[in-house]
Amino acid sequence: MAHLNRYRKGTMFIFSGPSGCGKSSIIKRVLAEVDNINLSVSVTTRAMREGEQEGVDYYFIDEAKFKELVRKEALYEYVDSDFGPKYGTPKEAVNKWLDEGKDVILDLDYPGVLQLKACAADRIKTISILPPSLKILRERLINRKTDSMETIERRMSMAEKRVKESTFYDYIVVNDDLDTAVSEVKSIILAARVETKNQYQWDEFVKKIVED
Ligand code: 5GP
Repeated sequence: MAHLNRYRKGTMFIFSGPSGCGKSSIIKRVLAEVDNINLSVSVTTRAMREGEQEGVDYYFIDEAKFKELVRKEALYEYVDSDFGPKYGTPKEAVNKWLDEGKDVILDLDYPGVLQLKACAADRIKTISILPPSLKILRERLINRKTDSMETIERRMSMAEKRVKESTFYDYIVVNDDLDTAVSEVKSIILAARVETKNQYQWDEFVKKIVED
């Protein structure tokens, strides 16, 4: 398979899912178990929280720098609210990896998906991660003990919206059992790697197979 890698274009795999669905655990496992795949690190204008690291959790930037990135069209998608912090996906690192034939994971909500669809539809696959039921999601959020009941209720009403939005995604992965969900996501990634449209330098590729 080594020669295939050289001729491959990378894909952006966009993950969405309600808080508590296990999306972060799935992404962590995929990054550890699949080669040639990286996680996109977003920029944000919010303050760094305890335990967070520059360049790992986010690139922490000020409002002026954020405005400049927007003006230069250096972000694939962004959330620009006057009230809360701003977030965005820098194009530079993502494009570099894609050009090297590596895949990229993005963790975005549905408005982010729509922005990517508008500018890079042929380079993305969208994956909605869902809990087996909203009842189980509520139990997971309560057991996690990180949110107040008020926050949990807010997350629950957003979760219902997420479930309904799933119909607009390429894939739906129900995270009932983590191992199963991880292997389903890995299958999606591996299948994209051998899609005909994701091979490039096609003439060279065919020539090599015919002549070798
Ligand atoms: P937090 O501040 O708790 O890290 O994240 C708040 C929200 O911002 C989360 O829902 C997270 O998914 C979203 N977010 C983080 N980075 C980005 C980004 O680059 N683009 C978009 N659209 N949302 C983001």
